[in-house]
Amino acid sequence: MRSKILGNVSALFFSFYAINAVSSPPHWHYDEQSTWWAVEDTSQSIPLLYPYAECGVGKRQSPVDLAAAEFNNSKPLNRLAALYDTDTPTFYNNGHSVQVNTSLDYSGGLRIGEESIPLIQFHLHEPSEHVINGQHFPAELHFVHINEDGRIAVLAVAIETGNENPAFQTILDNTPVQEGEQNTNSGVQFNPAALLPQQDHDNLEYFTLAGSLTTPPCSEGVQWYLLSDVITISTAQLEQLKSFYTNNARVAQDLNGRAILSNQ
Ligand SMILES: [Zn+2]
Repeated sequence: MRSKILGNVSALFFSFYAINAVSSPPHWHYDEQSTWWAVEDTSQSIPLLYPYAECGVGKRQSPVDLAAAEFNNSKPLNRLAALYDTDTPTFYNNGHSVQVNTSLDYSGGLRIGEESIPLIQFHLHEPSEHVINGQHFPAELHFVHINEDGRIAVLAVAIETGNENPAFQTILDNTPVQEGEQNTNSGVQFNPAALLPQQDHDNLEYFTLAGSLTTPPCSEGVQWYLLSDVITISTAQLEQLKSFYTNNARVAQDLNGRAILSNQ
């Protein structure tokens, strides 16, 4: 199943796996995000010009400021269900964020209407990428689902500070401190559903809009589902997250007329 997915997914998405990439994509940094579009890939004999151009010219970029959005809850929307079960995942410090990759035979995924899309990885941003009136949440969790044809759906959960979160602590405790390193044999049993808000996981309340990857290459065609409820971590856990990466959030992008739909 996974090899089939990999075979069909554009080479762009190998950055999600980044294990034995034939040639690694050019470097980028959060403090230079206004010029991501201008990065050149000089690793080839004939340089690839602006492989991240979409970051600059795209019209459906993510994240966005929700306060600026026109909300529409008049349209019937698909029922959204997070069908996550227990896995023995890989904890991965991907050089930009703390990430957890599901195992090759993982069967959990996101069901959107009649369609199920496999959960490939989830990762963290500090502070949040989506904002409300310019205000960030302390952190944001992104569950990345990729279909066999390469389509991507991201489920985003805003993180507030409050009660300590045991599942979150498991991630912090098992992610390598060293950039680019993976912890493949922790043996830790982990159910990603433990990171979801306490609402009906079989019928989630959400906002949805069309967007993009929030990191280069900023590819569009990503369907975003933003949960209306938040989860909490303790302030100590937030500090521990910052010890890995801080300010790994892209600034809010223009909506360019996009509406945000809601099932509430
Ligand atoms: Zn993300």
